[in-house]
Amino acid sequence: MLKRKMRLFKLLGFTVSIDASWGIILFLVIWSLAEGLFPNYFPDLNIRTYWLMGLFGAIGLFVSIIIHEFSHSLIARKYGLQIKGITLFIFGGVAEMKDEPDNPRTEFFMAIAGPIASFILSLLFAAFYQITTIIEAPVPLIGILGYLSAINMLLAIFNMIPAFPTDGGRILRSVLWWIKGDIRWATRLASRISLLFAIAIIFIGFMNLIGGNFIGGLWWVLIGSFLFNAANASYQNLLVKQSFEGKTVRDFMNPNTVTVPSKITLQEFLDKYLYHYHYKMFPVMEDNSVSGIITLQALKAVPREEWQHLLVDKVMHPLNPDNSITPDTPIKDALIQMNDTGLSRLLVMEHKKMIGIVTLKDLLEFLTVKMELEE
Ligand SMILES: [Zn+2]
Repeated sequence: MLKRKMRLFKLLGFTVSIDASWGIILFLVIWSLAEGLFPNYFPDLNIRTYWLMGLFGAIGLFVSIIIHEFSHSLIARKYGLQIKGITLFIFGGVAEMKDEPDNPRTEFFMAIAGPIASFILSLLFAAFYQITTIIEAPVPLIGILGYLSAINMLLAIFNMIPAFPTDGGRILRSVLWWIKGDIRWATRLASRISLLFAIAIIFIGFMNLIGGNFIGGLWWVLIGSFLFNAANASYQNLLVKQSFEGKTVRDFMNPNTVTVPSKITLQEFLDKYLYHYHYKMFPVMEDNSVSGIITLQALKAVPREEWQHLLVDKVMHPLNPDNSITPDTPIKDALIQMNDTGLSRLLVMEHKKMIGIVTLKDLLEFLTVKMELEE
């Protein structure tokens, strides 16, 4: 789901990427600085200067966020957790972990490292702001330093909001986890608290919009909606992860598959198979081995008048690594493959022979049952 990202550079062994949303965010930041904040606090400069200040302010913010994320990643590495890389998202970043911390202590220190880094940055910029003010440095420089001090303080405070998956949310979860020793309970409670915070933030945003504070209001609404989605997703992710832990395609595949001969017409396929079995995908057999798959979609793509004479093997999708999977693949990877290819049914192939089909529907039904048992 993080396909819209672009690699920027590698530093200290971490790959830093940027999410596509940052293009819009960068513009929003520069614009709100050049047209709103700087003219407000530092009047009598020309418009070109404001936009330059906006640009440098945005670059400073960008670097600050990278430092914040690096502090998380470095602490994580210190505790032996693998970090895939750092992705800058809307209004912040995410250090992508390969595995989750396995104890509350690690999670606590890893989470709190970021806000501490932002807080220190804020103090540093404040000190430079004071010095440049005293020595009467150029006003644009003073302005940028002042902004960076304020924005880092804001980042520190914002990230301490107990709304999963921000740092504050993780800190909250780690404390709850430590109290009861139950990560699932801690995640569930932290997620619920997070949703309440997200709704409150969206509400504040709309109040601001109604009150005429357009830029400020827009920020609150954006941040609130992001938190709302993220809080929802993180709990579900954990449940999915734990439910499928250690399970492979073999555990969920259906070995009793109905196959279609490759040399029948589409009309026969419709009458004898689609109407009869109500499946949406069938493996196609040629000389006792699977040569591809035929789906309802593929049939629909062919004009009706051709169904009488066109053969299945002319319309089928040939067997390929996208529509097939090995039985020992972890379920987690099968889900990723289904998500990436958009195929909800995969052929399970072992030693070039088809031994079954695994479907998204079966996986989801298993999850539903499991969640209902544990609620
Ligand atoms: Zn953080």
